[in-house]
Amino acid sequence: MKVRNIFYCLLNLNKRKKELEMSKEIRKIAVRGGHNFQATGARGIIDETTEDRKVKDAVIKYLRQAGYEVLDVTPGNCDVNTDLAYGVNKAENWGTDLFLSIHFDKAYDKYEGALGHACWVYRSGSESADIAQNIVNNVCNEIGFKNRGVRVNSSLYELRKTTMPAIIIETCFCEATEDVRIYKEKGADAIGKAIAEGVSKKQLDSSDKVEETSPVKPSKPSPESKPQGKNIWEVSIQGEEVKRLQHQLNVQGYGDIKEDGYFGESTLSVCPTVREGARGNITKCIQQRLLNRGYTSLKSNGGADGVFGRGTTIAIKNLQRNKGLNVDGIVGKNTWKALYRK
Ligand SMILES: [Zn+2]
Repeated sequence: MKVRNIFYCLLNLNKRKKELEMSKEIRKIAVRGGHNFQATGARGIIDETTEDRKVKDAVIKYLRQAGYEVLDVTPGNCDVNTDLAYGVNKAENWGTDLFLSIHFDKAYDKYEGALGHACWVYRSGSESADIAQNIVNNVCNEIGFKNRGVRVNSSLYELRKTTMPAIIIETCFCEATEDVRIYKEKGADAIGKAIAEGVSKKQLDSSDKVEETSPVKPSKPSPESKPQGKNIWEVSIQGEEVKRLQHQLNVQGYGDIKEDGYFGESTLSVCPTVREGARGNITKCIQQRLLNRGYTSLKSNGGADGVFGRGTTIAIKNLQRNKGLNVDGIVGKNTWKALYRK
């Protein structure tokens, strides 16, 4: 239809102009997981909507680590039209510098082998195409997906309706056996990290999942700042894990404390400063705490093996960063408190 063509033509011109003008620094990134659980995505061996949420969360976490302001523009359950408009409108209203939409692809009912990873952009030679190329290269190098490159499509809603650089990321194919094997082996966290590194061109710390399972309440003053502050044991975990630490502190001669399972002032006062190079059961307690808090990068570095190596330092640094502490990778009193805090 004629009118419609003119309309799209104008839209395209508008978009092209904006992208050519865009060379400002990227600070604000809007990220969404594709589709929703009502207007579902592709299904193969894995389910697109389920998995793209995991990758999306990891992308957001690592982009924040890289220093960007990030807005999650993933919609809740809604019909397919609302679904696409929601993310784009939210991104537009926020003054977004870069829009990323995370998807998984599907081409066949079943596929034996590898199909790979790709990004879609509105047009070649654009800023989004440059960033997309970095993402594709980094993800394929780091994760091992077959590289399908950057692809151009000016008809996709999220690309044509956004006025900022926009990229649709097709993580891999959900029906391809080899893609899914790699996806499961490397995991959503590593893929999110590789995507964020592609965007930021920074080496990021592989780390924890976002650890807070209950919402944080930033308005609530921390116990330390309250006039009648709570005791450490009240805000710390208690039980067997604490008992094991107390026992080690006693047997290794750091203190003579009650092994009562409460992480309080007396326990904290005898906790030694622990850093890279340390070995033993106290290091093991620290590592177990990191793992329980969700700092799972340790698993690929020997787990709670009692050896304080590079992987433990990285995990400690991530904890410190998340808790607003001095990021030095050394377990001093404040880090001890953060480790055992509920
Ligand atoms: Zn999709």
